[in-house]
Amino acid sequence: MTQRNSLDATFALSADVTLPGGLVFLPFDALLIAEGEWSNSCNRLGIDKAVNVFSQAIGLIINMNYDAKDAAERQLRDRVVRPNDDGEHKRIVDDLKKAGVDFEFIEYLKGETHYIVVTITKASLLGLGALQADLPRERLLERSNVDEEKLLGAARTVATIFGLPAESSFCDFHPVKLFDFSSRAKALCGYKVLGVCTGGSQQGQVSSLDIEAHDELGIAEAAYFERALPELRATAMELQEATDDDGRSRLTERTRLAKLERLHQARADIAALEEAQRAFKERVEIKRGLTSLVPVFPVGDSLLEPFWPQGLGSNRGFHSALDAAWAVHVLSVQGLQASLLERNFAYDLMMQMNWFSK
Ligand SMILES: Cc1cc2nc3c(=O)[nH]c(=O)nc-3n(C[C@H](O)[C@H](O)[C@H](O)COP(=O)(O)OP(=O)(O)OC[C@H]3O[C@@H](n4cnc5c(N)ncnc54)[C@H](O)[C@@H]3O)c2cc1C
Repeated sequence: MTQRNSLDATFALSADVTLPGGLVFLPFDALLIAEGEWSNSCNRLGIDKAVNVFSQAIGLIINMNYDAKDAAERQLRDRVVRPNDDGEHKRIVDDLKKAGVDFEFIEYLKGETHYIVVTITKASLLGLGALQADLPRERLLERSNVDEEKLLGAARTVATIFGLPAESSFCDFHPVKLFDFSSRAKALCGYKVLGVCTGGSQQGQVSSLDIEAHDELGIAEAAYFERALPELRATAMELQEATDDDGRSRLTERTRLAKLERLHQARADIAALEEAQRAFKERVEIKRGLTSLVPVFPVGDSLLEPFWPQGLGSNRGFHSALDAAWAVHVLSVQGLQASLLERNFAYDLMMQMNWFSK
């Protein structure tokens, strides 16, 4: 699914407007956005994202104070526990089951705090009373649906089963937290370019460009639309002919239904691609009259969210931040076009790389 965002004209302001009291203009050459996955600025600057939605997955995070003087706490070792572990973790698995904690995996880490993350099932949270009602996915973890006392109770139970003494206390910051990692988003393009319109109805306003901000990439994008649309239309035509009155007699009902489904999909794809091409052409027109161009580079989770259990977030977060810093350097020595190409290249590499290799 694609999450399309439009540039918010009340957010991106040109230097010509009068600012509300207390606000000042600061000149800048590039904007790096490191706001994490719920980046408001990405949304308001119109950065489109591709979103993969998986079956519902919930994480329960527990942070407890570590008392290094306590011998029992000192002995605790980092570990990952899975429901089918039957070795040294069997007692933990059995006790968790008895306590009504159904999970996919649990990781315990000891650093400055005791940190436990449990990928717990919705059914368990409902059964333990930590969630009050089985609401739709987007509302399930709303504050009003979480019973904090019972959530703390469930967390305490997990901590005890992992061997934390009864006296260990919760941290003041993020003692217990639920988060949803059922979806993952990535920016469609590794950059956005903002500029001020010099003419037309939007004169003086900020507008934004995507891939077409780079001349050559824009040509490639235009060529893609010219190539892909006729191909899709031809496919739809073939499917239409195969499933209309003349063609249907030669197909089994099952094949006809399958082709009909493909036809519906092809029509939806054509509509989406036509809309994308229309928006692209509009931006190409806008590009002709834009001045004061500045690149925007989302980094970290704002650019590309990890599939959380793979533990890639920090690693790729640092890489994408360094790539953005490099693109800003290239901007200063070679200009915008070279900078965007570098950024695009690095983002492509990031997507293709096998992040499991050492
Ligand atoms: C429970 C959990 C466990 C994880 N475990 C791992 C792991 O083991 N290994 C791993 O690699 N990754 C892990 N991750 C993922 C990792 O935490 C993220 O990928 C990483 O933190 C992303 O870094 P970031 O700087 O892009 O975003 P964040 O860490 O989310 O930081 C963004 C910051 O920007 C702030 N912010 C937002 N908007 C604004 C604004 N307008 N102005 C100023 N500040 C703003 C936010 O408050 C936040 O502090 C885990 C994530 C979670 C939730």
